[in-house]
Amino acid sequence: MFTILRSQKSSRPSRVLCNLVRSYSSLPSSSDVSSFNSFSKSAASALDVDTTRSFQKPPPTPIPEDDTPLGSILRKTIDAAGPMPLARYMTLCLGHPEHGYYTTKEDVLGEKGDFITSPEISQVFGELIAIWLITRWQANGSPSSVRLLELGPGRGTLMADILRTFKQFSFMAETIQTVDLVESSPVMREAQKKALEPYLKRKDGSHVQIRWFDRIEEVPVSDAYTLFSAHEFFDALPIHLLERVPPPLEPEPSPVTTSPSPENTDLSKPHFHELLVTYTPPSPAFHFTLSVEPTPYSTYIPTTSAEFEKVEIGQRIEVGAVGFGIMRRLGALLFEGKNAGGGSGLVIDYGKDGFYSESFRAFKAHAALSPFLTPGLSDLTTNVNFSHLRTALLASPFGSQIRPLGPISQADFLEQMGLIPRVDGLVRGKPDETGKRIRQGAERLVDREGMGTEYVFFGLEGKPKEPSQRDNDQAVWPFV
Ligand code: SAH
Repeated sequence: MFTILRSQKSSRPSRVLCNLVRSYSSLPSSSDVSSFNSFSKSAASALDVDTTRSFQKPPPTPIPEDDTPLGSILRKTIDAAGPMPLARYMTLCLGHPEHGYYTTKEDVLGEKGDFITSPEISQVFGELIAIWLITRWQANGSPSSVRLLELGPGRGTLMADILRTFKQFSFMAETIQTVDLVESSPVMREAQKKALEPYLKRKDGSHVQIRWFDRIEEVPVSDAYTLFSAHEFFDALPIHLLERVPPPLEPEPSPVTTSPSPENTDLSKPHFHELLVTYTPPSPAFHFTLSVEPTPYSTYIPTTSAEFEKVEIGQRIEVGAVGFGIMRRLGALLFEGKNAGGGSGLVIDYGKDGFYSESFRAFKAHAALSPFLTPGLSDLTTNVNFSHLRTALLASPFGSQIRPLGPISQADFLEQMGLIPRVDGLVRGKPDETGKRIRQGAERLVDREGMGTEYVFFGLEGKPKEPSQRDNDQAVWPFV
């Protein structure tokens, strides 16, 4: 029998959230949770049901373990230049212009692809994120100009659900100036264009412009208020894998010019070497080898966060240096300099507050496999270290203006934002099978044995500048 687990939390939604509920669903003016739940119900009747989404895992298909075109490029590179950092291996496997997984593969997502994501499972996911974004927009003074920003939009499903929900709140939808998408894959861009086109028309007949960027560094600073999301983006970014080693008896010589010189090697600090990807002929299989000396990355990266000081000798750490840089850039885009218009948003991914040692893995046709097999043809991924992302923001020059929120579990976020009444509204009057499918999809998102706790929501916004923005001083629902 289907049941959606209710959260144990008894806290209430913020005043802004309840005001939103009252204003746009003609509800009695009680500022309690039931108002919010009723709001979700009334919103449910206004929004169409998308019954095309599926959430059944197809049976795993046999996996070919043979060599690939990218594999031979990687071996030639290793022959010429020696073992490579894992981040380089991942960058090539995922982003090689001709043979990279994301650059070339058309069916990455969905039942026929390699993995399925929450927005592809249930429309409720994007709808509740949209509601959260509206509440933050209101809590921050309902800015008259808004920019939507998404990192790694996939098939565009999440952004389409956000835009579709915003349409129910035209006072807000009409403030959107641009939809900015950071997407490196031409194949995905096509899918995004198709998914978003139906939602771009304004009341006056003009269209919201979509702008694509390969990298976040290309996204311009805007004085508009930015509402952003990044779902399953940071897990797709390359990482370095480091291992703590005993301190050298005496300072090690510098392996390359950028490494610390023997004179300034601090023996009291933890020492790391780097796991590099190599292969051993005649076997084509790639595998790790530990660098014999520190590398520039193993010297620099551990200094980016105090959490790496606790690592024990022999322990490994996965460090997303690329994700760290992207998070910092995102913070700068929103909060650095007088032209930055501020913003609010969510980073959603599998992960926790803390580092991982061995989460690096591959998926192909919904089955896990060695990340060293079928390079370029399988998805490579790692769990996200949210405390490292938070450090990227707070240790920046604009860190004092930023308010990090959470992370909290996906189940807590979605349930506290009204998943249950929304699903009840969606299934009302639907034939049995359709209703069952909708419920099962929602159940999967908040399953505390699975996606509900594996995935977490990390929020981010600016600290209030104006005293009049009092709501912004309160805890931000549902990060309470
Ligand atoms: N957010 C979507 C898709 C997740 S898959 C969803 O939840 O369904 C990861 C997405 O990020 C894909 O669109 C992929 O093409 C994009 N991507 C991966 N690495 C990237 C990079 N380095 N720069 C820009 N986009 C990237």
